[in-house]
Amino acid sequence: MGQLSLEHITKEFGDGENHVVAVDDLNIDIEDGEFLILVGPSGCGKSTTLRMIAGLEPPTKGDIVLNGTPVTQRKPKDRNMAMVFQSYALYPHMTARENMSFGLKMTTEMPAKEIDERVKNASRLMGIEDLLEKKPGELSGGQQQRVALGRAIVRDPEVFLMDEPLSNLDAKLRTTMRTELQDLQQDLDVTTIYVTHDQTEAMTMGDRIAILNDGELQQIGTPAECYQEPANQFVAGFIGSPSMNFFDTTLGDGALSTDDFTVTLPESVKAELSGHDSEFVLGIRPEEILSGDEAVDHPDSFSIEVNVVEPLGDVTYLYTEFGGSEVTISVDRNTEINPGDQVTVALPAAEIHVFDRD
Ligand code: ADP
Repeated sequence: MGQLSLEHITKEFGDGENHVVAVDDLNIDIEDGEFLILVGPSGCGKSTTLRMIAGLEPPTKGDIVLNGTPVTQRKPKDRNMAMVFQSYALYPHMTARENMSFGLKMTTEMPAKEIDERVKNASRLMGIEDLLEKKPGELSGGQQQRVALGRAIVRDPEVFLMDEPLSNLDAKLRTTMRTELQDLQQDLDVTTIYVTHDQTEAMTMGDRIAILNDGELQQIGTPAECYQEPANQFVAGFIGSPSMNFFDTTLGDGALSTDDFTVTLPESVKAELSGHDSEFVLGIRPEEILSGDEAVDHPDSFSIEVNVVEPLGDVTYLYTEFGGSEVTISVDRNTEINPGDQVTVALPAAEIHVFDRD
């Protein structure tokens, strides 16, 4: 069982000019067996959060609650959690087998036979049975990370904590390991909190993602929820690649407008926006902008000039500028467009996102 709650977790570092609120009043409930991804830009407080859960860093305020019991005051070894680091953190003078068994030998009274059995099972799961007598220096990065994961598995913890475990691997291996880790997590059914700054990992690996910025939780939800219904402009811009396009617009006559275009709003959106200020940020993803034949009959269509065309094989991106913003438009790979061409486009009201201006 590994139901974990973060209750008002806050971490401040330094004082005076050096004072930083690294994590600001974080509240998250993680279900037993859930795979939760903590994602956000560098410096947003992901590692600090994970280190507080592990017990490597005391929170300034708040509680870590495991299965209904606060564990905030417990030492790391007494929390029944296992952490996997980006740097693998293996002991260089020990073999893979010794690395995997060392923690259990040191912190438990477990009989040697059971430890051996656990190492055997974990190494089978990780496919490293042939590497057990090798030292980290004799292993590739991918193999070392398998040993580090094996070491976490032998402890049979209630919670796995993973801090960017794949980021030192090359792109191809990272893709393989991503799927493997996901399968492993499902098979073992152990609550897992996985820190990454990598969008693809965030969108593909977890049950839910928690998006942090400046130490504050921006949104928590399934990848699809965060993509389709971003809670604010930060999330909208962070999730999805290429990023959502944003425009500063003014509300008037039932439409959001810039100098270059108008988006006529459906009644439901008009009702939602009435009574607010008249300035809004309009967001639309590159793939939702209509272009060419799709756009000509749209009542709000307008013409733009394409600056750059980037054919990527499966999709082509057009880079342009209108409404006071730089804009990316995603079009079918067979579209014949050259830099300098005029193209008709439209922003369909059903696909836009509307955010308050800061
Ligand atoms: P992330 O993992 O998202 O990159 P961190 O949790 O490492 O972010 O850091 C969050 C913020 O806390 C940053 O501003 C960082 O500089 C600061 N910070 C982290 N650890 C310390 C520390 N030991 N002393 C002072 N500031 C720290």
